[in-house]
Parts: sequence; structure tokens; C-alpha cells
Amino acid sequence: MIKFLDLHRQYMLIKDELDTKIEYIHKNSSYINGDFVSEFEKNFASYLDCEYCIGVGNGTDALEIAIKSLDISPGSNIIVPANSFIASAEAVSNNGLEVNFCDVDPRECVITLENIKSVINKKTKAIIYVSLYGYANYLDEIKDYCNENNIYLIEDCAQSHGSEYKGKKVGSWGDISAFSFYPGKTLGAFGDGGAIITSNKKLAKSARMIANHGRVKKYDHEFVGRNSRLDTIQSAVLLTKLNYLDDEIQKRQECAYYYEENIVDDILKPIFNDHLYQSFHLYVIQVNNRDIFQKELKSRGIPSGIHYPISLPELKAYANHGNFPTATLLSNKVLSLPIGSHLSEDDLKNITTSVNEVFKKYHN
Ligand SMILES: *Cc1c(COP(=O)(O)O)cnc(C)c1O
Repeated sequence: MIKFLDLHRQYMLIKDELDTKIEYIHKNSSYINGDFVSEFEKNFASYLDCEYCIGVGNGTDALEIAIKSLDISPGSNIIVPANSFIASAEAVSNNGLEVNFCDVDPRECVITLENIKSVINKKTKAIIYVSLYGYANYLDEIKDYCNENNIYLIEDCAQSHGSEYKGKKVGSWGDISAFSFYPGKTLGAFGDGGAIITSNKKLAKSARMIANHGRVKKYDHEFVGRNSRLDTIQSAVLLTKLNYLDDEIQKRQECAYYYEENIVDDILKPIFNDHLYQSFHLYVIQVNNRDIFQKELKSRGIPSGIHYPISLPELKAYANHGNFPTATLLSNKVLSLPIGSHLSEDDLKNITTSVNEVFKKYHN
């Protein structure tokens, strides 16, 4: 049976290494913070070639705390792509700031500088760049534009662990970045987890304090913060799995190349960008009659996903935030095919054959 995601296989791959670490945690009864947390933070920062990593409870918290650390004045807005997971917008709203939605490129599915320029206004203080599906582009131009206009660049890297743009890791371009380690992500824990990444000492200190009850030391609280921690056991999982991340990405790229070569060219497939070492968190094709397409694939034993079926401004939660035709178009056409190291050559062949058959059947 072809799986969209195989978490059990991921567990079996690291079982022995992980069991030793978890035994150590139990032996010391040190379930909060401790060596595994700081070691993972150190290794992940170094993997991204950044100065600081602050582990937090999940990716949504990471974004929310990252924004809070920027201390943006009330009444300001932050640009958010209309095509993303809701957390990208929630983190802005939960900081009491306005979401300024931005449409995306129809082929790249992420925002471009032109998209940004069409929505930016005097109250814009930051841009959230979401490297959706592991894809990113124009980060250099966008960063320069942010610097020129004195606004912050925040990266939502929940889907782009290990992606690299122009030789520099995605997540190291922004003033501050947020990662999620939700189990299904390319680097996932066996539960919730997230991290904030920055090379700015002041932001790192602020984010660390916000996540830790606003304290400087044990019972000395400078301001009202909150509690958001990366769990010790999850840190042990991530510390182990980080060593396998590059392998996983390579396997995903091999899947993507296979699809690129073997899925008929009349189907819109992901772009291969020369400047991008792409993690392929998701492999997203665009088809007409998407829902029927998905059902037909399912009847042939091929699982697939939709990321996302409703664009953010079309959700009830974000009603009256404007019209974003490309995001709407994408929400009706995108279909994520299985991708990952768990797929065999036969699986890839089966998926490809089925996709091509269904496409032909519906003269899509
Ligand atoms: C998964 C995801 C998040 C949120 O991460 P959680 O760990 O689930 O809170 C944020 N943004 C994007 C784009 C995501 O895919």
C-alpha cells in the first residue's frame, strides 16, 4: 500500500539511537529542558548557519513569539501570503496586528516582489515569507527591499527545512524565522515542536524571554511572557533525525526528478529553480477538476493531499480581507502527490502511471 507519509518507518530508522536517548532522559528524570534541548538548538542553528535557535512548543508559537519579539506598534500590518496554512496569519492576528494579505505567483505558489509591492502601505511593518512546499525565490531582492523600506522580513519555514536559496539556507534570510517540527514536516518530531531562528542577539534574547515567562532568572520576571517549550523527548527525536535530514531531502529530490521526467508535460508540475536547492516538502501538481482527479487516484490506491483547499482570505476567520484571484485559482487546482524516502521505485512508477491515466481519462 502506498502511503502519503510513513511515520512508523521514520521511527524504525532511528529506534536504537532514540531508545538510548530516551532511557537517559528517564534515568535522570529530566523531562524539561536539559542537554538534549540545548544540543538540538545548537546543532539546528549551526545547520542553518545562524547564531541562535530557540526551541518552542510548536510552529505556530514560533511565529507568534518571533513577531512579538519585533515589538511592532499597534495599528500596523504584516504582509501574509494568501496561499498558506492559517498559522501564518493567526500569528499576526494573535499579536493584535492587521493581516495584509498578498497574492502569489501562479506557478511558484509563493509571493514575489511584485506581489508585495501591490499591497504594501504606510502601516506595513513586516513581511512573512512562507517558503511553501519547500520552494523559495527572490529572497535576496525581497530582503533588500525590506531593508530599503525599513520593514522586517520574517520567514515561515514550517515547510522548508533544508532548502537553500543561492547557497544560503532558507530561514537564514529573514531577521527572524520560524520552524515547525509537526510530525508530518520534512524534519518532524514525534509530537509537537517548533523553533525560532535568528542571528540578531537582541531578538534572540527577547524571543527566549517571551517564551520563558518574561524571566531573566528563576523567579525574576521582567515582563509578562508565556510558556512555550520544546519538549526534552522531542528534542532527543529531533537531535537524532537532524542527522538524516539531508538524506531525506536527497531522496525527495530523486522522487521529484522521477515525476518531472515521467508525468506528462500537459500537467502543471513544480518548478525547478536553478538558484534553489529544494527540499520538496510537498510535490504539488495543478490539475483541473481536482476533486474528481483526487477521487480517481484514491480508487487506484494512490493517496494525495490538498495544500490548501481554501485560500486564507476565503476562510470565515479572515472574511473581508480582499480578493486574491491566484490564491483562489490555486486552491481549486493544487494536488500534492506522495513524496519521501519511504517510496520505492515501484511506488513512483505506480503513482506516475495512475496520474497519467487519470489525466488522459478526463482530458484534463
Ligand atoms: C505546519 C505549518 C505551521 C504551523 O506549525 P505547527 O507546528 O503545526 O504549529 C505554520 N506555517 C506553515 C506554512 C505550516 O505548514
